[in-house]
Amino acid sequence: MDLRPLQNYIAGQWVDAEHSSLLPVENPSTGAIIGQVPLSTSAETHRAIEAAAGAFPGWSRTPVARRAQYLFALLELLRKSEEEIARSITEENGKSLTDARAEVKRLVENCEVACGMPVLQQGAKLIGASDGIDGEVLRLPIGVFGMIAPFNFPGMVPFWFLPYAIAAGNTYVLKPSEQTPLTMQRIARLIAQTNLPPGVFNLVHGDRTVGEALMDHPQVKGLSLVGSTRTCQAVAERCTRNRKRFQAMGGAKNHLVVMPDARVEEVVRNLLSSCFGCAGQRCMAASAIVAVGDATYDAVCQRLIEAARRVIVGNPLDPAVAEEPMLMGPVISAKALAFVHQMIDTGVREGAQLALDGRGVRVAGAEKGHFIGPTIFTGVKPGMAIHSTEIFGPVVVVLRAGSFDEAVSILNGHAYGNGASIYSQNGYWVRRFKLEVECGMIGVNVGIPAPVAHMPFGGMKASQFSQIKAQGRAVIDFFTEPKVITERYWTET
Ligand code: NAD
Repeated sequence: MDLRPLQNYIAGQWVDAEHSSLLPVENPSTGAIIGQVPLSTSAETHRAIEAAAGAFPGWSRTPVARRAQYLFALLELLRKSEEEIARSITEENGKSLTDARAEVKRLVENCEVACGMPVLQQGAKLIGASDGIDGEVLRLPIGVFGMIAPFNFPGMVPFWFLPYAIAAGNTYVLKPSEQTPLTMQRIARLIAQTNLPPGVFNLVHGDRTVGEALMDHPQVKGLSLVGSTRTCQAVAERCTRNRKRFQAMGGAKNHLVVMPDARVEEVVRNLLSSCFGCAGQRCMAASAIVAVGDATYDAVCQRLIEAARRVIVGNPLDPAVAEEPMLMGPVISAKALAFVHQMIDTGVREGAQLALDGRGVRVAGAEKGHFIGPTIFTGVKPGMAIHSTEIFGPVVVVLRAGSFDEAVSILNGHAYGNGASIYSQNGYWVRRFKLEVECGMIGVNVGIPAPVAHMPFGGMKASQFSQIKAQGRAVIDFFTEPKVITERYWTET
């Protein structure tokens, strides 16, 4: 295990970080220390920004097809390293290898989509906007962009932005989560192998100090944050004050509505991975089930509890369980585990029924891991703290609704609006659900309605603090200025 402090990557060089302190990086399954991350200073962050600013003029003038070639080279390296990256994710985050491999696939998919930038970045021209006047929209790169990443998808989430930003001609400074910095470190080594011109991509490790330095620096033109809603609020305020464009994608409480005509057996099989995959630490995790009608409610509760008992809780790198299809690892830290426990106590105090209690799970050989088993509350009422709060652990609340309309009003009354799914074979209810539910991503008989990389990813309400979503064609609007030209020439005589 290499416990030397991670280095930053600035101006094409790996450098020892100027830092205020070092933070241990923990394997949440075993409690073992697997790295040390420097909390870089503002001055160090400024050096990365200045490197990116210095690289911008040359990079933005590089033909887009040539810029995309670097991504093709990166794709090849990523594909060869898929398993290694997945293992790194599992080691520092604790999700199962199955979940980590799926994360890597989506990361690669985003890189593939960004390779289409020569087509995606094309502008538009309107001949004859007025008499003898043409209108034209250019989609121009803007400058230095920053990104602040969360712990739960250490590889994929940065790739919702990074490949698009640089393919569009911008330069970049990325700050991984200080809790899971090792995966991006590994990927940055691959980026370095593509011989991208120095300064186009920079990696700075640290905590909010780095994020704040990015937001305050005049040469940073825009910032993407993915994190908790509280962090989104802080970032939205700071970026607005500093007149920077920003994307801030926040917390969630995703509801799955089960209609009386749903195929309950299939639904429960589908629910299981939505609720307990990644130990509930996905922004698209299903954390609230709304069953419509008493019979549906009873059937869902009974079958979900039975199925959840069969989820294997274990160290995802233990060969004895690593390839189990429904394996659940730990939550990220002792602090996160304590919060989940606190919320379970709250649920009991609020009068919900703790139908399955995951506390007290012991994983042999991994006693220092932050494990908790699947936990299910039934009889939950809208507005209880266990319903209104993002718990970000394997805790599911089940609510009963008397009708479709009541179910929709439970969802729309919630502060978050990231994803929501309906289970039904009936097109009438499904159509209304798609149109009426105030969430950015909707699933129909799909437990995790996370869009593929070609489509926009993002929520509504407290789940997203900006209009432009991540990945696909949508994010290119964030990384380009739609400069509009109105043009006329007088007649030559
Ligand atoms: P977090 O908000 O604690 O941290 C996210 C990042 O922000 C970290 O890199 C952290 O160092 C940095 N940060 C924290 N405070 C900051 C500040 N004041 N200024 C600048 N930077 C700051 O989130 P987390 O615990 O790492 O991630 C989990 C959260 O992310 C959950 O709420 C989850 O729902 C959310 N998430 C949302 C999406 C989405 O698409 N909406 C996707 C993944 C995760």
